[in-house]
Amino acid sequence: MKKGSIQTSVGIIGGSGLYEMEGLSDVREFFPTTPFGRPSGPLILGKLEGTQVAFLARHGQGHRIAPSDINYRANIFALKQLGVEWILSVSAVGSMREDVAPGHVVVPDQFFDHTRHRISTFFGGSVAPGVVAHAGFANPVCPNLAELLVSACQQQDLIVHTGGTYLCIEGPQFSSKGESLIFRRWGVDVIGMTNVTEAKLAREAEICYSTIAMVTDYDCWHETHDSVTVEAILETLHRNVESAKRIIRSAVASLPIERGCVCESALKMALVTPVHAIPLATRRRLTPLLSRYLAPETPLRPRRVKGATKRPTRRLALVPKTPGRK
Ligand SMILES: [Zn+2]
Repeated sequence: MKKGSIQTSVGIIGGSGLYEMEGLSDVREFFPTTPFGRPSGPLILGKLEGTQVAFLARHGQGHRIAPSDINYRANIFALKQLGVEWILSVSAVGSMREDVAPGHVVVPDQFFDHTRHRISTFFGGSVAPGVVAHAGFANPVCPNLAELLVSACQQQDLIVHTGGTYLCIEGPQFSSKGESLIFRRWGVDVIGMTNVTEAKLAREAEICYSTIAMVTDYDCWHETHDSVTVEAILETLHRNVESAKRIIRSAVASLPIERGCVCESALKMALVTPVHAIPLATRRRLTPLLSRYLAPETPLRPRRVKGATKRPTRRLALVPKTPGRK
């Protein structure tokens, strides 16, 4: 499959339990490469409700990749390379609130990053040295996409909580009871291990991102936590996955929508390094992210001047030492 021939504006990232998307037609598998390595698995391309989508299983097919080992940068970059403008994320979460019960859906509007071992930026580091960007993250979720997901939940007669804070912990262990009780006091609503990293990278990639957080169980602060059987949790997980598929089908049918949101131009004011000062190799690697900010006069290859030979060596002028100074 030719890289340039594939374009899709909708990406779906499936979490625990959601490893494939049924109902896709014209299905093709695509194994992309990115400057950040390979994504969690192949991108499954196909049509869903008449819309071209790209599906990616976050933990890989067969759930083989732990939250800290997911190549988040490759996942988001691979979707960006395809031209994705919307990412619908599905994830299993624990509830931190009594009234947010297992089986409910939360569409968070905030994140709290409690991870410790992740790179959550495309800029800088060994792959893209010489460029600094500080993207705004005050409103980390796309309001337009979140609204679309909420109405898709309502159309499916699911109990949906609009807004809330998703606390992202490093994992892979669940929280201790002490932590869980403290997190409750922080005022968070749901707890998970993956979404904040994706949301940060999606923002840098100027992709609209919103999460369908499916509540599997109460976190361990709840008095019923210890008495809930694994079977009961798995049953809820299975039911949630079926609900998530219905939500996605319903939401995707309404895409594309007008963007005009904060996500669309997130890098406009975020790039601190002037484009001409970004090393050529970095500019080349980050072309999908930076192309709209690269002015025509900033070529991706060094200009060759006809007839030019070696650059003349600059000679340092010999300055006489000022008396009294060292
Ligand atoms: Zn947006």
